[in-house]
Amino acid sequence: MIALNDKIEVLPRLGKTTAKYLQKLGLVTIQDLLFYLPFRYEDFRQKTAIANLEVGQEANIQGEISLIQNRRARGRKLNITEALVTDESEMIKIIWFNQPFITKNIKVGDRVSLAGKVSENQGQLTLISPQYEKIYNNTLIHTFGLVPIYHLTNGITQKQIRFFIKQALSASQEIQDWLPLEIRKRLNLLDLPSAIRKIHFPDNLENADVARKRLLFADLFFRQLKSQLTKRELSLQTAHYIPFKEKETAQFVSSLPFKLTNDQRKAAWEIIKNLEKEIPMSRLLEGDVGSGKTVVAAIAMLNVALNKYTSLLMAPTEILAQQHYASLNKLFSRSGFNIKIALLTGSQKDKIDKDTAIIVGTHALIQKQNNYPEIALTIVDEQHRFGVKQRQKIIDFNRNNKFIPHFLSMTATPIPRSLALAIYSDLDLSIIAEMPANRKKNITKLVKAEQRSEAYDFIAQEIKKGRQAFVICPLIEEADELGVKSVKTEYKYLQTEIFPHFKVGLLHGKMKAKEKEKIMTDMLNRKIDILVSTSVIEVGVDIQNASVIVIEGADRFGLAQLHQFRGRVGRAQHQSYCFLFPSLDSANQTKAITRLKMLEQYHDGFSLAKIDLKLRGAGDFYGDSQSGFTDLQIISLFSAETIKKSKEEAASLIFSDPDLKKYPLLKEKLGAWEKNIHLE
Ligand code: ADP
Ligand code: MG
Repeated sequence: MIALNDKIEVLPRLGKTTAKYLQKLGLVTIQDLLFYLPFRYEDFRQKTAIANLEVGQEANIQGEISLIQNRRARGRKLNITEALVTDESEMIKIIWFNQPFITKNIKVGDRVSLAGKVSENQGQLTLISPQYEKIYNNTLIHTFGLVPIYHLTNGITQKQIRFFIKQALSASQEIQDWLPLEIRKRLNLLDLPSAIRKIHFPDNLENADVARKRLLFADLFFRQLKSQLTKRELSLQTAHYIPFKEKETAQFVSSLPFKLTNDQRKAAWEIIKNLEKEIPMSRLLEGDVGSGKTVVAAIAMLNVALNKYTSLLMAPTEILAQQHYASLNKLFSRSGFNIKIALLTGSQKDKIDKDTAIIVGTHALIQKQNNYPEIALTIVDEQHRFGVKQRQKIIDFNRNNKFIPHFLSMTATPIPRSLALAIYSDLDLSIIAEMPANRKKNITKLVKAEQRSEAYDFIAQEIKKGRQAFVICPLIEEADELGVKSVKTEYKYLQTEIFPHFKVGLLHGKMKAKEKEKIMTDMLNRKIDILVSTSVIEVGVDIQNASVIVIEGADRFGLAQLHQFRGRVGRAQHQSYCFLFPSLDSANQTKAITRLKMLEQYHDGFSLAKIDLKLRGAGDFYGDSQSGFTDLQIISLFSAETIKKSKEEAASLIFSDPDLKKYPLLKEKLGAWEKNIHLE
């Protein structure tokens, strides 16, 4: 018997290597597998007789293997597996590429079920690279019925994960439903074990919907509960009183090399008002890439410093922490304030004393207890999560302190005000909608293979004008068969073949922090003209002189991520350009092109997020492969009415039973959630 808490390795055909890949998806136990939800289904409910197949149709056929063999194609690089499959009506040809092992699994005489798109090949109907499985008894899970599709990582196939989840389902009756029974009854929702079974292998789409509805509601309800409990806890806490230093703030603002936008002013003002209260602030500062959130944060930190307290500023990467450190130093020294800033990263550990006004570092800053001076404000930059979790962490971090720091979370993740307020009831919201006036709209172009050299010429022109460029590549390893460019190969190629007269630089995640820092400094000081990089520069980095960004293998990234990338250029007055080079993965070419074309048309993150959601499914949006639902999924699938319901149910539950005495399962789940945060 398989149990919920068993490690996934108890499953058949799941060895160490596979377990490691699954772990990348956050899947460690049987329970994790069960809660790893499909994001869509392939509909193979109809079995089609071979004689009735039509070109272009997605179909399931079932029949007997009459012939199967491997052969090498011209050029010898390609292995082709050819088979003939016969049913009562007709025979059809099947082709698979580079999967020679298929002939080991399937032999002449086997009954098989195949699912895929019907094509025409040399005048004959053919199934090219269909999904396949042998028919034993009535247990087809890959090629017949509603076939679940999951978000995956390299090394795992849909077939594998489907097989594992199918096995894991035998433990599903053990799942205990933490959603209070009366709520379930009131809203007519499915129980949890049934919902889990139905979402993976539904009989029909209605069943899948009912299951999804139950799971989403529970997720929404749980978020509400957490955020309302957090809010209640906070309202009982004390924060430092930070009176507004009007004269100094005005001096700082007038020393800036630009005029603040109205939205920046408003956001700064909302924060200042919060800091004057002794209840801890909980605020989300939302603004598209390049909208100028940092200077708003600086105004807040200046006021904290002038009141003789310290601020923590946490960035997602070391590079970004370094950049914040450098730009804050510049901003403050220009304005004539003596604000002592310390940088705490893996490679630089500044000394911290009573006079340290700002500590800049990565999210690791609050990982373990430190001897910080009295922290009055904590700022989290560019974490693609909205507040509640971070907030809880900070409360936990300061659990034994009389004061809880004020909290500001800064994000470029687009989410409209009404929904943010509905979902995160413990957070206040400031939005910078307006871009600084000096910005020109980025010009984005999808570049076909034959236009590549033209694009390179254009980049050379820009560099001759004094600008700089970024080239982003998706992977560090050697180019794989799909034509994804390796960053090192690309770097060498560009330096020697394309831009021999310019200085090309290289940056990737495997480099030492010191090396990365040097490269970024060189880029800032224009010692590098073209920086070839992996996605490490995704967030935050500010090279104002850069005007072009090239993205190789662009189809490998989500639209929101691509939008973040192009936000790296056009951060000053120069016209900026983004060139998207798709990889040569021909299978999905048209789909990928349609998706990438959206970036030519749309220039705001929110529209792009919605489009990505439609085209790819929500899980991809942040590249966040955690199980369960993303915030945007919740938002897109739920009416304001349901959000309101979950809010009311959470509020009435907390009101009638604040300590959740009657709901031990729910309490346990909340406890597990808090513990999880501790460990993260
Ligand atoms: P983000 O919101 O993406 O964090 P930053 O704070 O890094 O954006 O700001 C992007 C760039 O715009 C920085 O170089 C900053 O100095 C500049 N900037 C900020 N506010 C303004 C403004 N009001 N006018 C012109 N430039 C500004
Ligand atoms: Mg930023």
